[in-house]
Formats: sequence, C-alpha cells, structure tokens
Amino acid sequence: MSTPILLWLRRDLRLGDHPALTEACKAGGPVIPVFIRDGIVDGYGAAPKWRLGEGLAALDASFRDKGSRLILRSGNALETLQELIEETGAGAVYWTRLYDPDTRERDTDIKSALKEQDIDAQSFHGHLMFEPWTSETKTGGFYKVYTPFWKSNRDRDVDTPLPTPGSIPAPSSWPASETLADWQLGKAMDRGADVVARYANVGERAASSRLGSFIAHGVAGYDANRDLPWKSGTSNLSENLSLGEISPRTCWHAGMQAMQDGKAGAETFLKELVWREFAYHLMFHTPRITTGNWREEWDAFPWNTDERLAEVKAWKQGRTGIRFVDAGMREMYTTGRMHNRTRMIVASYLCKHLMTHWKVGMKWFEDCLIDWDPASNAMGWQWSAGSGPDATPYFRVFNPVTQLDKFDKDRRYVGTWLAEPYSKKASEALEYFDAIPRQWNMAPHDSYPEPIVTADKGRKRALGAYENRKF
Ligand code: FAD
Repeated sequence: MSTPILLWLRRDLRLGDHPALTEACKAGGPVIPVFIRDGIVDGYGAAPKWRLGEGLAALDASFRDKGSRLILRSGNALETLQELIEETGAGAVYWTRLYDPDTRERDTDIKSALKEQDIDAQSFHGHLMFEPWTSETKTGGFYKVYTPFWKSNRDRDVDTPLPTPGSIPAPSSWPASETLADWQLGKAMDRGADVVARYANVGERAASSRLGSFIAHGVAGYDANRDLPWKSGTSNLSENLSLGEISPRTCWHAGMQAMQDGKAGAETFLKELVWREFAYHLMFHTPRITTGNWREEWDAFPWNTDERLAEVKAWKQGRTGIRFVDAGMREMYTTGRMHNRTRMIVASYLCKHLMTHWKVGMKWFEDCLIDWDPASNAMGWQWSAGSGPDATPYFRVFNPVTQLDKFDKDRRYVGTWLAEPYSKKASEALEYFDAIPRQWNMAPHDSYPEPIVTADKGRKRALGAYENRKF
C-alpha cells in the first residue's frame, strides 16, 4: 500500500472540484487532511479569521461524512509538515497554489525543503480558472487593463469541475489534532461575531445552494440589478470564493450554462469572475500592489496616513454624516460584506474627500470583511484611489450625494443601514449597535451628524491637491 499523503488545506475549503484532493485519493494510500495555523493565518484581520474558523468547522464536517477528518496544527508551516511526516510516515504533501507574495515565498521554500528530504511535494491548480502566467499580451507582457484581459480569456476552455471523491482513504490511526475551540479564531471580533454569523453563508454545501439559487433566480436580472445596493441582485459568492468553498470554474460553468439558456445577465456575471482573475494576474506580476502605490509617482501625493484623525475614525464608524458612506460602513460591520457599488463610494470618499491613504482603508476592510481577498481588496482600493494600473483617474471624484440619487433613489439602502436619521428604525440598522465595540459609544437615538466633509468641499480639496501635485 502507498504511504500516506498529507493534503495541506489553505484557502481551498471544499471537497468538490479539488484537484489536489482528487489526485491524493487516486494515489491509493491514506489521505491526511491538515490545516496549519501559522504566522500568515495569525496575521489575518478579525473578521476573516473568524470566518476561517467557521469554514474549517464546516470542512471538518464534510470530511467526517466521508470517514475522514481535518487535522489542525499550529506553528511554523514547514516544521509542522515535517513533524506530521515523521509521525505518519507520509511520503507526499499536496496543496492548492495561492498567489499572494507572502504565501508564494513560504510555499517555494517549503517545496524545496521537502524535496530535499525526498518528499513528493506538489502544488495544484484550483484557486483560479487561469494561472496568472498563462495570460500574455501580444508583446509577451502581462495585462494592465481589464478589457483586453477579458477579451483574451473569455473564449478559453475552462476544465469541467471535478466530482467530489466517493471516498477518502483514511489512515489506520489519526495523528493528534488541536481544536478550533482552543484556537479561538473569533476572539478579535469583540461583539461582532454573533451578529455577522446571522449573515454568513458558511461551507461548501451552502455555497453550492447559493450558486444554484442565483442561477435560477438572480442571473437573468444581474445586469439590471447588480449596481443597486438595496436589491439582492448579485451572487454573494465572494465569501465562499475567497476561502475556496466553491471553485471559480464551478461558478464559470454555471454561468456559461445560464448564458446558453439565454439568461440575459450571465455574460456580465462571467465578466465579474474574470475581474477576480485579473486581480490575481496583477498581484502575481506586480506583488507590490498589496503594499504600495502601483503607480509609484503617487508616493509623492500628500495622503493623510494618520488613522487617529477624527475624520478617519468617523469613516470607520459610519458617522461621516454622508448617508451613502455611513450606510456602507455599517453594512460591512454588521454583515462582514458590502455591496460593490458602496465599496467604490466609501473608498472614493476616504481617498479623495478625506485625502486619506488607500492603505488605511484597505487595512480596515481587511479587518472587517468576511470575503476579504488579498488580490481583489488591493486592486479595488488602488482602482478607487487612482494609483493602480487599471484605475479610475484621481480627478474623477464620485459624488456620494448624486450617487445616492442614482442608485438608491427611494433611500431603501440607507434606510436599512442607518438608524439615527429615521424615526422608524430598520432591524438591520439596530443590529449594528449590537455588533460594534461598546467604547465607540454610539446609540440609535443619537442625533445624526452633519457631514464632516461635504461632497462639494471634499471634491474641491481633492482636486486642489491633485492640481498642486509634484508629478
Ligand atoms: P458578484 O457581483 O455576484 O460577482 C461574482 C464574483 O465575481 C464575486 O463573488 C467576486 O469573486 C468576483 N468579483 C465581482 N466584482 C469584482 C471586482 N470588482 N473585483 C474582483 N472580483 C470581483 N472582493 C472580494 O472578494 N474581496 C475583497 O476583499 C474585496 N475588496 C474590495 C475593495 C474595494 C475598495 C472594492 C471597490 C472592491 C472590492 N472587492 C472585493 C470586489 C467586489 O466588491 C466584491 O467581489 C463583490 O462585491 C462581491 O459580491 P458578490 O459575490 O455578490 O459579487
């Protein structure tokens, strides 16, 4: 019988369409699924870390349905794998590739160290549809603009998703495991976890049924509805895609089928899935996108970087006095998610009206989003700030007041997420006060603040700074 294979799970918390798992099962020996809480995981923000814990619990249940289980260990990833190899006699370690700079560096080192020990260390495809190095411009470079990236990828074959293995061979005895209760991954969420949990859609089964219901009821109207934050017009799959609870090619094939069935919004949905690929393409080719201005001339821009400023605090707490902005920030704190239209508005307001560095906003999102994704978050922020490769120009400043008239004409969105301005307070708006830290000292019957920086004043200030820039 073959020696055991360690299946090292990371952001691929599923059994279906999982090339590394399928190959491990084919090898014929026992498969030992393991998740390692190392420094990279410990560095996650509060909400993503909590959401990871929920995802791991669901994954363990799925493995147990197949007579397997998820082994949890914490420590340095290489040393932990080496300990497990020693304990189990494993001859191979399989994992799904990830692309953020820190993970790539860690994984490259681990692969070579394991190979030196004659361990069969293999990484597999699965987090993306297209490996980032397989899309090339005509001159052999990488894409810096989305539309040509889309055109070059839209007709590519995307492999049919792999089935969930019928059984997962178990070892005769299991190595010891730590527990999620010990790990307390939700600790940094303060009071928020109980509230956010009501909105989260955890695990592979939930993701699959969400995709099914979106394809049945949502995708046809996706084009018309996707920009309306008060309408549930999008797939809401980002939290699942982020942790790999569903594979992008499963979503792609469902979207393709919907397109063949004549559902109007299906092509736009496919384009959005390719935006995610584009974010990874950019992060792979220019890893600096996660840490600094992609257009380096923006280093000379007089961004505010002081998070203690009252303006920045008001932005985080949803009390800038600009309704669209405050509603979005509260939606995020209450649900762990925010509508895409609102993400663009709150990001633009922070970077332009408040002239605050996009890194401050990116970091706050990283702490609050359960769909946090290193590539999409970095690209979204640099796009909004004007410092990214495929960016909205800095002088195009979203007006959060006219945007509200356009996308939330009847004030349903702001009415759902803001309590203070309204005598009849929506239950969602009230939940926000259950989620936030007590020291924020906010209550639903407070008076709603006047704008800290009005739409007009902020626009003038931002454009003035832009005119005076030194580049
Ligand atoms: P749908 O509209 O149903 O789209 C389907 C899928 O396509 C999404 O689940 C997502 O995986 C992908 N997608 C859609 N729009 C984008 C986009 N603009 N960029 C990249 N992928 C996209 N998305 C994240 O998943 N995680 C983040 O941390 C994140 N941070 C963002 C920060 C800012 C400032 C901005 C402007 C956008 C950010 N986005 C992020 C992108 C986008 O807002 C979300 O992917 C989207 O709101 C998720 O909702 P949905 O699943 O209903 O998407």
